[in-house]
Amino acid sequence: MTIPPCRFSIAASDAPIELLPRDLSEYREGNCGVNYVHCLDSGIPGPSISIVALNHGNELCGANALCYLLDNQIMPVKGDLTLIFANVDAYQSFDPQRPFASRCQQEDMNRLWDASRLIRPDTSDCQRAAEIEAFIANADHLLDLHSTTHPVCPMLIYPDTGANLDFGKTLNYPFPKLYYRPETYHGGLLINYHQQLHPDAVSVVAECGQHFSHAATQQAISTTIRFIQQFGMLDPSVQQPEYGYEKSQHAGEYRIHQVLNAASENFSFAESVLGFERYQQGQAFAHDAGNDLLAPFDNCTLIMPARVPVMDEEAVTLAEFVA
Ligand SMILES: [Zn+2]
Repeated sequence: MTIPPCRFSIAASDAPIELLPRDLSEYREGNCGVNYVHCLDSGIPGPSISIVALNHGNELCGANALCYLLDNQIMPVKGDLTLIFANVDAYQSFDPQRPFASRCQQEDMNRLWDASRLIRPDTSDCQRAAEIEAFIANADHLLDLHSTTHPVCPMLIYPDTGANLDFGKTLNYPFPKLYYRPETYHGGLLINYHQQLHPDAVSVVAECGQHFSHAATQQAISTTIRFIQQFGMLDPSVQQPEYGYEKSQHAGEYRIHQVLNAASENFSFAESVLGFERYQQGQAFAHDAGNDLLAPFDNCTLIMPARVPVMDEEAVTLAEFVA
């Protein structure tokens, strides 16, 4: 098959670059036979949890969160914790003049998680995914750390399984929680791959705030600690750091209905948008190919609108505010 080039906007970011990628060489050599993978084993029975950073190489916050655990020698008190720096080669290609370009090498690593691809990896990103696959397959639960292009509030995103919905309700998380039926959202996602192997697992993406910001790193650290604490795997003396952002006015649950691609080069939103703008059924939220695009349901919320919509690429995700 022909792999399309890694597609993303590499237009100059309006995200201020507060943080540069940290040198990870001290964590290159892991302890489980694969570079940049560390297994922290308590030796006591309990859950196996994997935390993934750098599924997108330019999303520094996750790497900083894993370094926080390693730097501070935070160990689980039961079960085991596997820390995975995923697309390190992409991360190391960071260029401050093109800060989005280090998202991946040849293709988006968070769209290729499919057994048929992993068995015969044909890009460097897929090769790396195949290297770390066993640590995904072995995990009882999974947290995948990300950040966003826009300065939009943090959020959790997960398939709408019972375990994930219960987890979302019990976690004290004052930000939006978005859930979806797998067929209505992107294919090839890491958390979907994990969920297929472990239908009763908690498999969650945490979007931790804007790329390259101090706040996103703080958010990623706090979210990771709370995630592990939810499974009773941390000593009570481990501090629960503050979130990186204030409680969001958009907090609550949302059901994702569809990802909308731009049908023309003329796609434009009806107003200046950042995300979480809400429309009632029948209201125009965008124009595309000469037509108004109308909200197909009430409380229709725009999630992660593209900064510069491009034809045939993802323009926005539509989600219903539930409660
Ligand atoms: Zn990402």
